[in-house]
Amino acid sequence: MTRTWLTVDTDDRHHRPSMQGHPTRSASPDGRGVDRTPSEAWLSACSALGAWLDRQSVPVTLFVIADQLEVDASRDALLSLTNRPGVTVGCHGLHHRAWGAWPADELRFNDALTTSMHRLREAFGDRVQPWFRAPSGYVAPWMARVLAGVGMTVDSSVNPSFLVRKKAGPGRSWTDVERAMTDAGLVERPWLVRKGLPTCGPALHLPLLRRNARRAWRALPDVLKAEEVPVVEDASRPLVTVYWHLDDHARHHGAWTPPLR
Ligand SMILES: [Zn+2]
Repeated sequence: MTRTWLTVDTDDRHHRPSMQGHPTRSASPDGRGVDRTPSEAWLSACSALGAWLDRQSVPVTLFVIADQLEVDASRDALLSLTNRPGVTVGCHGLHHRAWGAWPADELRFNDALTTSMHRLREAFGDRVQPWFRAPSGYVAPWMARVLAGVGMTVDSSVNPSFLVRKKAGPGRSWTDVERAMTDAGLVERPWLVRKGLPTCGPALHLPLLRRNARRAWRALPDVLKAEEVPVVEDASRPLVTVYWHLDDHARHHGAWTPPLR
């Protein structure tokens, strides 16, 4: 039976591509000089997500950006969140650099992944899974081999919508990325689309997409049970993958919740 895998990306506002990490979209492409202090909104969103998890008791995977562990306030907030049953941690990059939007750089990508996983494991121990989500959804085929080389088993970066096909890299399609992941031995867990349109992350809020997204979420299969989470790594098991942003929980004065049934 198909189940739903709930995932949350822990981006703060300074991680966004308009701020840093993208060669042409960012105020600071290389991210140097960007203040990594967590925002008040992000910190309050951590509390709101924690309260929601306590009410729902559903397993969730947090895709964490490793630089959030360098600042005490964000480190403590994340440790408190992951101190709940059913919470697992995946890798959302070191500084949220949009690797797939830059020219291929296997060496530096490898170093960033190795450092990220080391820091995540040091902080979260066996909560950490070798699962990756590309910052800002930019994922190119060259990244697959590097991910496999550092021991990643799952990639969940593909947003298989025509609207964002450029994020697969110049001249590439989502099929190319999925094939590269499979060839490298990774399981690809693409995000849910409905009628070819994105339904996750920003699509939950954008005026032209949110209606379609909410319809898709209301029709989701049952959420994975805690003991079923390992099927994320089992390519033979179909799974619907959805994600939202942690700081969504700061919306509506902290009352926002993901639009599950
Ligand atoms: Zn992100």
